[in-house]
Amino acid sequence: MRLIILGGPGSGKGTQLAVIQKPLGVVGISVGDILREAIANNTFLGTKAQPYFAKGELVPDDLMVQLIRLGLLQPHLEAGWILEGYPRTTVQAEELDFVLDDFNHCVDYAIYLEVSPAIMLERSLRRSRSDDTPEIIHRRINNFQAQIPPILEYYGSRGKLLPFDGTAAPSVISQQILSHVALRREV
Ligand code: AMP
Repeated sequence: MRLIILGGPGSGKGTQLAVIQKPLGVVGISVGDILREAIANNTFLGTKAQPYFAKGELVPDDLMVQLIRLGLLQPHLEAGWILEGYPRTTVQAEELDFVLDDFNHCVDYAIYLEVSPAIMLERSLRRSRSDDTPEIIHRRINNFQAQIPPILEYYGSRGKLLPFDGTAAPSVISQQILSHVALRREV
């Protein structure tokens, strides 16, 4: 099973990733966290990504596509994965499909955690990550609002979009996701 989790800052993507990976028997991958670690360790990727990350802007697609191409080839991911924070542009969505196509794989579902910009702001301001300054948070929310419509359209038109109310309790959302994905898996 190969899933992606879409949602704005503070929509609960990381929380759901942590909960659903085990019951689904797949590996959770947080692209934002991979970038945070790469920046902290000053890797090639980290130094390239840092100026964009620091401003709350998207890291350029060519760099992200390379990261995904290499990242998803790892043997421990053969049984499946859940990708959080990718794709964030339609180019990234298309490239993901190209990469998977080479291995006769595909994205099974795109989980979308829907919350209003006001809730994104409130939740992001409440968490204490060092890169969550008000200015960066605002930029991330604005960018998300601008970029998400064509991505929803991309997965929606392929019958892969599973939207959930991201304001429900985290445990309720996890249950909803798991039952939808498991039900559809049996069809
Ligand atoms: P996140 O932890 O998912 O909110 O991501 C933090 C930051 O990492 C974003 O503001 C971007 O600068 C960068 N980033 C994460 N995922 C992507 C992506 N798929 N494409 C471009 N930049 C990304």
